[in-house]
Amino acid sequence: MDTFILETRQLSKSYGHGEAAVHALRSLDVNIVYGQFTVIMGRSGSGKSTLLHLLGALDKPTAGKVFLQRVDLFALPDDALTRMRRRKIGFVFQFYNLVQELTAYENMLLPLMLDGQPLDSAHVDQVVGLLGLENRLKHRPGALSGGQQQRVAIARALIAKPAIVLADEPTGNLDGKSASEVMDLLRLSARTFGQTMVMVTHDARLAEHADRIIELDNGLVISDSGAGR
Ligand code: ADP
Ligand code: MG
Repeated sequence: MDTFILETRQLSKSYGHGEAAVHALRSLDVNIVYGQFTVIMGRSGSGKSTLLHLLGALDKPTAGKVFLQRVDLFALPDDALTRMRRRKIGFVFQFYNLVQELTAYENMLLPLMLDGQPLDSAHVDQVVGLLGLENRLKHRPGALSGGQQQRVAIARALIAKPAIVLADEPTGNLDGKSASEVMDLLRLSARTFGQTMVMVTHDARLAEHADRIIELDNGLVISDSGAGR
């Protein structure tokens, strides 16, 4: 089996042009190992979100490539790229991104519905149970706490059985207690499902139980606890 689920090659992203250009990523070669819980750290503005967005093909690079399971993402036509993103990648964002008009349950199933995929109800039950959402399924996001909304967003990411989950500061909008609960649940789901995950955070405490920590500064990797694998 391949070692790497994601690989970047000389990945660069700049915003703006000329003297006003911001070089958010500078020729990064990063790989993500199957089954690992990788944390990307670095201070604000170091390029973490930019990297995560490119890994998830939510944005296009200025130069360089991203390979997901050996597929050169940005060489794909747009519709194939969208399909690949939908099938292979689960996202968890700081601000949950739930559909307010839908119940928690409907939100969780939405990616499968949009993709016309069958529902594995035993898996859904397991995810719902793991995240402690049994009694919140009929609630709309507005009737849930921040921590509960983020648990719904995690469930939504896991239910589709993605190859990889990408999370950008998933606890960034939560108080300390909910933040550590959500972190514990992310870790537990990674372990339970052998789910490959990449999480961005600027909080060193949250990185404690990662398999690997990649640190960015000024668009470059400045340390990598998993380097040399
Ligand atoms: P982080 O997530 O580590 O805080 P980002 O990836 O969001 O960092 O940003 C990296 C750099 O790129 C920062 O200097 C930021 O100001 C800049 N940047 C990010 N997004 C944009 C954008 N849409 N337009 C212009 N500059 C941006
Ligand atoms: Mg960010």
